[in-house]
Amino acid sequence: MSGILTYALHYQGAFNKNSLGAVSEGAKLAAELGGEAAAVVVGGDDLTDELCASLGRYGAKKVYRVRGPEGLAQPVVDAMAKVITEQGYDYALFGGGLLGFEVGAGLSARLRAGVVMEVTEVKVQDGRLIATRPVLQDSALVDSGYVGSPGIVIGRLNAFDAVERDGGPAEVIDVDVQFEAHSQKARMVKRGEQRGADVNIEDAEIIVAGGRGLGEAEKFRMLEELAELMGGAVAATRAVVDAGWYPYAAQIGQTGKTVAPKLYLAAGISGAIQHKVGMQNSENIVAINKDPNAPIFEFCDLGVVGDLHKIVPKLIEAVRARKNGGA
Ligand SMILES: Cc1cc2nc3c(=O)[nH]c(=O)nc-3n(C[C@H](O)[C@H](O)[C@H](O)COP(=O)(O)OP(=O)(O)OC[C@H]3O[C@@H](n4cnc5c(N)ncnc54)[C@H](O)[C@@H]3O)c2cc1C
Repeated sequence: MSGILTYALHYQGAFNKNSLGAVSEGAKLAAELGGEAAAVVVGGDDLTDELCASLGRYGAKKVYRVRGPEGLAQPVVDAMAKVITEQGYDYALFGGGLLGFEVGAGLSARLRAGVVMEVTEVKVQDGRLIATRPVLQDSALVDSGYVGSPGIVIGRLNAFDAVERDGGPAEVIDVDVQFEAHSQKARMVKRGEQRGADVNIEDAEIIVAGGRGLGEAEKFRMLEELAELMGGAVAATRAVVDAGWYPYAAQIGQTGKTVAPKLYLAAGISGAIQHKVGMQNSENIVAINKDPNAPIFEFCDLGVVGDLHKIVPKLIEAVRARKNGGA
Protein backbone atom coordinates (compact mmCIF):
# COMPACT_ATOMS: atom_id res chain seq x y z
CA MET A 1 0.00 0.00 0.00
CA SER A 2 1.36 3.38 -0.98
CA GLY A 3 1.49 5.75 1.92
CA ILE A 4 3.39 8.03 4.22
CA LEU A 5 4.16 7.33 7.86
CA THR A 6 5.09 10.07 10.29
CA TYR A 7 6.04 10.14 13.95
CA ALA A 8 4.11 12.37 16.32
CA LEU A 9 5.81 13.41 19.55
CA HIS A 10 3.57 14.29 22.45
CA TYR A 11 4.16 15.82 25.85
CA GLN A 12 1.70 16.46 28.64
CA GLY A 13 -1.37 15.54 26.63
CA ALA A 14 -0.60 17.47 23.45
CA PHE A 15 1.27 16.84 20.23
CA ASN A 16 4.03 19.25 19.43
CA LYS A 17 3.59 21.73 16.60
CA ASN A 18 6.48 20.37 14.57
CA SER A 19 4.94 16.86 14.63
CA LEU A 20 1.54 18.21 13.62
CA GLY A 21 3.27 19.93 10.70
CA ALA A 22 4.76 16.59 9.63
CA VAL A 23 1.38 14.83 9.90
CA SER A 24 -0.28 17.58 7.84
CA GLU A 25 2.43 17.52 5.19
CA GLY A 26 2.31 13.70 5.07
CA ALA A 27 -1.47 13.83 4.58
CA LYS A 28 -1.23 16.40 1.80
CA LEU A 29 1.44 14.42 -0.05
CA ALA A 30 -0.25 11.05 0.51
CA ALA A 31 -3.45 12.44 -1.04
CA GLU A 32 -1.45 13.53 -4.10
CA LEU A 33 0.18 10.10 -4.30
CA GLY A 34 -3.18 8.38 -3.94
CA GLY A 35 -2.07 6.76 -0.70
CA GLU A 36 -2.73 6.99 2.99
CA ALA A 37 -1.19 9.06 5.76
CA ALA A 38 -0.58 7.48 9.14
CA ALA A 39 1.32 8.30 12.30
CA VAL A 40 3.18 6.35 14.94
CA VAL A 41 2.93 7.45 18.56
CA VAL A 42 4.95 5.98 21.41
CA GLY A 43 4.17 6.55 25.06
CA GLY A 44 2.32 5.50 28.17
CA ASP A 45 -1.22 5.80 29.49
CA ASP A 46 -1.41 9.44 28.54
CA LEU A 47 -1.82 8.28 24.93
CA THR A 48 -5.58 8.07 25.20
CA ASP A 49 -7.84 6.99 22.33
CA GLU A 50 -9.06 10.55 22.09
CA LEU A 51 -5.59 12.09 21.88
CA CYS A 52 -4.43 9.59 19.25
CA ALA A 53 -7.61 9.93 17.17
CA SER A 54 -7.22 13.73 17.22
CA LEU A 55 -4.42 13.37 14.65
CA GLY A 56 -7.25 12.75 12.18
CA ARG A 57 -7.81 16.50 12.27
CA TYR A 58 -4.41 16.89 10.64
CA GLY A 59 -5.10 14.23 8.01
CA ALA A 60 -3.85 10.97 9.56
CA LYS A 61 -6.13 8.07 8.69
CA LYS A 62 -4.48 5.64 11.08
CA VAL A 63 -2.53 6.08 14.28
CA TYR A 64 -0.32 3.18 15.39
CA ARG A 65 -0.09 3.38 19.18
CA VAL A 66 2.93 1.72 20.73
CA ARG A 67 3.34 1.43 24.48
CA GLY A 68 6.90 2.38 25.33
CA PRO A 69 9.16 5.15 26.56
CA GLU A 70 8.22 8.49 25.09
CA GLY A 71 10.74 11.01 23.82
CA LEU A 72 13.60 8.55 23.13
CA ALA A 73 14.74 7.86 19.57
CA GLN A 74 15.58 4.14 19.44
CA PRO A 75 12.20 2.79 20.63
CA VAL A 76 10.57 4.95 17.94
CA VAL A 77 12.96 3.49 15.35
CA ASP A 78 11.89 -0.02 16.43
CA ALA A 79 8.21 0.93 16.24
CA MET A 80 8.41 2.64 12.86
CA ALA A 81 10.57 -0.11 11.35
CA LYS A 82 7.98 -2.67 12.39
CA VAL A 83 5.01 -0.72 11.03
CA ILE A 84 6.78 0.08 7.75
CA THR A 85 7.92 -3.52 7.25
CA GLU A 86 4.53 -5.02 8.06
CA GLN A 87 2.30 -2.40 6.43
CA GLY A 88 4.53 -1.40 3.52
CA TYR A 89 4.57 2.40 3.79
CA ASP A 90 6.62 3.97 0.98
CA TYR A 91 7.87 6.99 2.87
CA ALA A 92 8.59 8.11 6.41
CA LEU A 93 8.43 11.84 7.02
CA PHE A 94 9.71 13.80 10.03
CA GLY A 95 9.27 17.40 11.02
CA GLY A 96 12.91 17.88 12.00
CA GLY A 97 14.03 18.85 15.45
CA LEU A 98 16.66 16.81 17.25
CA LEU A 99 14.43 13.80 17.89
CA GLY A 100 13.16 13.73 14.29
CA PHE A 101 16.74 13.79 13.01
CA GLU A 102 17.78 10.98 15.32
CA VAL A 103 14.79 8.77 14.57
CA GLY A 104 15.02 9.42 10.81
CA ALA A 105 18.73 8.65 10.71
CA GLY A 106 18.24 5.50 12.82
CA LEU A 107 15.40 4.32 10.61
CA SER A 108 17.48 4.91 7.51
CA ALA A 109 20.28 2.74 8.93
CA ARG A 110 17.86 0.05 10.13
CA LEU A 111 15.95 -0.26 6.86
CA ARG A 112 18.87 0.67 4.58
CA ALA A 113 16.67 3.41 3.26
CA GLY A 114 17.64 6.61 1.47
CA VAL A 115 17.34 9.76 3.54
CA VAL A 116 17.25 13.49 2.74
CA MET A 117 17.67 15.86 5.69
CA GLU A 118 17.00 19.57 6.22
CA VAL A 119 14.21 19.39 3.67
CA THR A 120 12.26 22.61 3.17
CA GLU A 121 9.81 21.44 0.50
CA VAL A 122 8.44 18.15 -0.78
CA LYS A 123 6.60 17.67 -4.05
CA VAL A 124 5.05 14.82 -5.97
CA GLN A 125 6.49 14.18 -9.42
CA ASP A 126 5.53 11.20 -11.60
CA GLY A 127 3.98 9.47 -8.62
CA ARG A 128 7.09 9.81 -6.42
CA LEU A 129 8.26 12.21 -3.76
CA ILE A 130 10.98 14.72 -4.54
CA ALA A 131 12.58 16.41 -1.53
CA THR A 132 14.16 19.84 -1.83
CA ARG A 133 16.91 20.94 0.52
CA PRO A 134 19.10 24.04 0.67
CA VAL A 135 22.86 23.50 0.35
CA LEU A 136 26.05 25.59 0.37
CA GLN A 137 24.98 27.77 3.28
CA ASP A 138 21.49 27.96 1.83
CA SER A 139 22.67 29.64 -1.35
CA ALA A 140 21.31 26.89 -3.64
CA LEU A 141 18.52 24.29 -3.63
CA VAL A 142 18.90 20.61 -4.53
CA ASP A 143 16.09 18.22 -5.49
CA SER A 144 16.50 14.56 -4.53
CA GLY A 145 14.38 11.55 -5.41
CA TYR A 146 14.48 8.09 -3.88
CA VAL A 147 15.72 4.98 -5.67
CA GLY A 148 14.36 2.36 -3.27
CA SER A 149 11.61 2.16 -0.71
CA PRO A 150 11.02 3.41 1.86
CA GLY A 151 12.31 6.94 1.31
CA ILE A 152 12.95 9.01 4.41
CA VAL A 153 12.30 12.75 4.50
CA ILE A 154 13.52 14.79 7.46
CA GLY A 155 12.24 18.34 7.32
CA ARG A 156 13.93 21.39 8.65
CA LEU A 157 12.41 22.40 11.96
CA ASN A 158 8.98 24.00 11.37
CA ALA A 159 9.33 23.70 7.58
CA PHE A 160 5.89 22.10 7.39
CA ASP A 161 2.75 23.96 8.46
CA ALA A 162 0.29 22.30 10.82
CA VAL A 163 -2.99 22.54 8.94
CA GLU A 164 -6.28 21.34 10.40
CA ARG A 165 -8.59 19.54 7.95
CA ASP A 166 -12.15 18.25 8.03
CA GLY A 167 -11.06 14.61 8.38
CA GLY A 168 -12.79 12.61 11.11
CA PRO A 169 -10.97 10.90 13.94
CA ALA A 170 -8.08 8.63 12.97
CA GLU A 171 -8.40 4.89 13.48
CA VAL A 172 -6.28 3.94 16.50
CA ILE A 173 -4.41 0.64 16.15
CA ASP A 174 -2.40 -0.82 19.02
CA VAL A 175 0.89 -2.35 17.96
CA ASP A 176 2.99 -4.57 20.17
CA VAL A 177 6.68 -3.90 19.60
CA GLN A 178 9.56 -5.95 20.97
CA PHE A 179 12.17 -3.30 21.58
CA GLU A 180 15.76 -4.14 20.67
CA ALA A 181 18.14 -4.58 23.62
CA HIS A 182 20.07 -1.43 22.70
CA SER A 183 16.83 0.54 22.46
CA GLN A 184 16.20 -0.05 26.15
CA LYS A 185 19.55 1.20 27.37
CA ALA A 186 18.62 4.87 27.50
CA ARG A 187 16.02 6.25 29.83
CA MET A 188 14.55 9.68 30.27
CA VAL A 189 15.97 11.15 33.45
CA LYS A 190 14.55 14.61 33.20
CA ARG A 191 12.68 16.51 30.59
CA GLY A 192 12.98 20.23 30.22
CA GLU A 193 13.44 22.92 27.69
CA GLN A 194 16.53 25.03 27.27
CA ARG A 195 15.01 28.43 26.74
CA GLY A 196 16.02 31.99 27.29
CA ALA A 197 12.57 32.62 28.68
CA ASP A 198 9.74 30.32 29.69
CA VAL A 199 8.05 30.68 26.32
CA ASN A 200 8.68 28.10 23.61
CA ILE A 201 10.28 29.97 20.73
CA GLU A 202 9.33 27.46 18.05
CA ASP A 203 5.67 27.56 19.05
CA ALA A 204 5.47 31.30 19.79
CA GLU A 205 3.11 33.28 17.59
CA ILE A 206 4.98 36.48 18.31
CA ILE A 207 8.76 36.76 18.40
CA VAL A 208 10.73 39.84 19.35
CA ALA A 209 14.29 39.34 18.13
CA GLY A 210 17.35 41.39 18.94
CA GLY A 211 20.65 41.84 17.14
CA ARG A 212 23.94 43.64 17.57
CA GLY A 213 22.17 46.95 17.10
CA LEU A 214 20.99 46.65 20.71
CA GLY A 215 24.51 47.64 21.71
CA GLU A 216 24.72 45.66 24.96
CA ALA A 217 23.31 42.59 26.69
CA GLU A 218 21.23 44.61 29.17
CA LYS A 219 19.10 45.99 26.35
CA PHE A 220 17.54 42.57 25.91
CA ARG A 221 15.48 43.38 29.03
CA MET A 222 13.62 45.91 26.93
CA LEU A 223 12.81 43.22 24.34
CA GLU A 224 11.75 40.81 27.08
CA GLU A 225 9.38 43.44 28.41
CA LEU A 226 7.87 43.99 24.98
CA ALA A 227 7.60 40.24 24.30
CA GLU A 228 5.92 39.66 27.64
CA LEU A 229 3.39 42.41 26.99
CA MET A 230 2.55 40.91 23.61
CA GLY A 231 2.54 37.30 24.84
CA GLY A 232 5.57 36.41 22.75
CA ALA A 233 9.10 35.07 23.05
CA VAL A 234 12.53 36.66 22.66
CA ALA A 235 15.02 35.52 20.03
CA ALA A 236 18.50 36.58 18.99
CA THR A 237 21.02 36.61 16.17
CA ARG A 238 24.23 34.63 16.24
CA ALA A 239 26.24 37.83 16.60
CA VAL A 240 24.72 38.53 20.01
CA VAL A 241 24.77 34.90 21.08
CA ASP A 242 28.48 34.73 20.22
CA ALA A 243 28.98 37.93 22.20
CA GLY A 244 27.37 36.25 25.22
CA TRP A 245 24.44 38.70 25.32
CA TYR A 246 21.75 36.03 25.04
CA PRO A 247 21.58 32.21 25.28
CA TYR A 248 22.16 30.01 22.26
CA ALA A 249 18.74 28.43 22.79
CA ALA A 250 17.25 31.66 21.44
CA GLN A 251 19.38 31.84 18.31
CA ILE A 252 17.49 31.95 15.03
CA GLY A 253 19.08 31.01 11.75
CA GLN A 254 21.19 28.53 9.89
CA THR A 255 23.02 27.34 12.98
CA GLY A 256 20.11 28.03 15.31
CA LYS A 257 16.37 27.51 15.23
CA THR A 258 13.90 27.89 12.39
CA VAL A 259 10.69 29.69 13.29
CA ALA A 260 7.54 30.77 11.50
CA PRO A 261 5.53 32.98 13.89
CA LYS A 262 2.66 35.27 12.95
CA LEU A 263 4.84 38.26 13.82
CA TYR A 264 8.64 38.51 13.82
CA LEU A 265 9.82 41.85 15.13
CA ALA A 266 13.52 42.31 14.38
CA ALA A 267 15.30 45.07 16.30
CA GLY A 268 18.85 46.00 15.33
CA ILE A 269 19.24 43.01 13.02
CA SER A 270 20.94 43.46 9.64
CA GLY A 271 19.19 40.51 7.97
CA ALA A 272 22.17 38.36 6.96
CA ILE A 273 21.26 35.32 4.84
CA GLN A 274 22.21 32.97 7.70
CA HIS A 275 19.67 34.71 9.93
CA LYS A 276 17.05 35.06 7.21
CA VAL A 277 16.84 31.30 6.56
CA GLY A 278 15.64 30.78 10.10
CA MET A 279 12.79 33.31 10.06
CA GLN A 280 11.83 34.05 6.46
CA ASN A 281 8.65 31.97 6.70
CA SER A 282 7.22 34.29 9.38
CA GLU A 283 3.82 35.64 8.37
CA ASN A 284 4.71 39.26 9.08
CA ILE A 285 8.24 40.59 9.46
CA VAL A 286 8.68 44.02 11.03
CA ALA A 287 12.19 45.45 11.10
CA ILE A 288 13.61 48.36 13.05
CA ASN A 289 17.03 49.40 11.81
CA LYS A 290 18.79 52.75 11.63
CA ASP A 291 20.47 51.89 8.33
CA PRO A 292 18.05 52.33 5.39
CA ASN A 293 20.27 50.03 3.32
CA ALA A 294 20.15 47.13 5.78
CA PRO A 295 19.41 43.86 3.90
CA ILE A 296 16.47 43.11 6.21
CA PHE A 297 14.49 45.89 4.51
CA GLU A 298 14.57 43.83 1.29
CA PHE A 299 12.42 41.07 2.77
CA CYS A 300 10.48 42.58 5.67
CA ASP A 301 6.79 43.47 5.42
CA LEU A 302 7.13 46.68 7.41
CA GLY A 303 10.40 48.51 7.78
CA VAL A 304 11.01 51.27 10.30
CA VAL A 305 14.19 53.27 9.72
CA GLY A 306 15.25 54.70 13.04
CA ASP A 307 16.99 54.24 16.36
CA LEU A 308 15.62 51.21 18.19
CA HIS A 309 16.55 52.77 21.53
CA LYS A 310 13.94 55.43 20.87
CA ILE A 311 11.38 53.29 19.03
CA VAL A 312 11.21 50.19 21.25
CA PRO A 313 10.45 52.12 24.50
CA LYS A 314 7.67 53.97 22.64
CA LEU A 315 6.34 50.68 21.37
CA ILE A 316 6.32 49.28 24.90
CA GLU A 317 4.43 52.35 26.08
CA ALA A 318 1.91 52.04 23.25
CA VAL A 319 1.29 48.32 23.78
CA ARG A 320 0.92 48.83 27.52
CA ALA A 321 -1.52 51.68 27.01
CA ARG A 322 -3.58 49.57 24.62
CA LYS A 323 -3.60 46.65 27.07
CA ASN A 324 -4.77 48.96 29.79
CA GLY A 325 -7.71 49.96 27.64
CA GLY A 326 -6.21 53.00 25.99
CA ALA A 327 -6.38 53.78 22.27
C1 LIG B 1 28.30 29.46 8.72
C2 LIG B 1 27.58 30.61 9.35
C3 LIG B 1 26.44 30.36 10.07
C4 LIG B 1 25.73 31.43 10.67
N1 LIG B 1 24.59 31.16 11.37
C5 LIG B 1 23.88 32.19 11.84
C6 LIG B 1 22.62 31.96 12.51
O1 LIG B 1 22.18 30.83 12.73
N2 LIG B 1 21.94 33.04 12.95
C7 LIG B 1 22.36 34.32 12.76
O2 LIG B 1 21.66 35.25 13.19
N3 LIG B 1 23.54 34.55 12.17
C8 LIG B 1 24.31 33.51 11.71
N4 LIG B 1 25.51 33.78 11.14
C9 LIG B 1 26.04 35.15 11.22
C10 LIG B 1 25.49 36.10 10.18
O3 LIG B 1 26.26 36.02 9.00
C11 LIG B 1 25.52 37.55 10.70
O4 LIG B 1 26.83 37.87 11.05
C12 LIG B 1 24.61 37.81 11.89
O5 LIG B 1 23.30 37.34 11.63
C13 LIG B 1 24.55 39.31 12.15
O6 LIG B 1 23.85 39.54 13.33
P1 LIG B 1 23.20 40.99 13.62
O7 LIG B 1 22.19 41.27 12.57
O8 LIG B 1 22.79 40.97 15.03
O9 LIG B 1 24.45 41.96 13.54
P2 LIG B 1 24.92 43.02 12.41
O10 LIG B 1 25.03 42.35 11.09
O11 LIG B 1 26.11 43.65 12.98
O12 LIG B 1 23.71 44.02 12.34
C14 LIG B 1 23.38 44.94 13.33
C15 LIG B 1 22.35 45.88 12.74
O13 LIG B 1 21.88 46.74 13.74
C16 LIG B 1 21.68 48.02 13.16
N5 LIG B 1 21.73 49.00 14.23
C17 LIG B 1 22.82 49.41 14.93
N6 LIG B 1 22.46 50.31 15.88
C18 LIG B 1 21.11 50.47 15.77
C19 LIG B 1 20.17 51.27 16.45
N7 LIG B 1 20.51 52.07 17.48
N8 LIG B 1 18.86 51.19 16.06
C20 LIG B 1 18.48 50.41 15.03
N9 LIG B 1 19.35 49.63 14.35
C21 LIG B 1 20.65 49.65 14.72
C22 LIG B 1 22.76 48.17 12.13
O14 LIG B 1 22.39 49.10 11.13
C23 LIG B 1 22.89 46.74 11.60
O15 LIG B 1 22.09 46.55 10.44
C24 LIG B 1 26.22 32.74 10.54
C25 LIG B 1 27.38 32.98 9.80
C26 LIG B 1 28.05 31.94 9.22
C27 LIG B 1 29.27 32.23 8.41
